[in-house]
Amino acid sequence: MPIYDFSCGQCGATFEELVRSTTKDEEVVCPECGGKQAERQISAPSVLGASSNVGGGGCSAPAGSGFT
Ligand SMILES: [Zn+2]
Repeated sequence: MPIYDFSCGQCGATFEELVRSTTKDEEVVCPECGGKQAERQISAPSVLGASSNVGGGGCSAPAGSGFT
């Protein structure tokens, strides 16, 4: 069961709430003030373009400029 982070829009408290599929955001009650203005915090690990482009040295050619 997923646990979401909520932040109370009333007192600003942050808390975790175990949310079931039948649980609505409106039903989440702040444990601090009892308000029902909790906002679900989306903290998804956004991994965009995880291409490990390591290295790729551009100008690493040995200086062999032949000026004679
Ligand atoms: Zn609150």
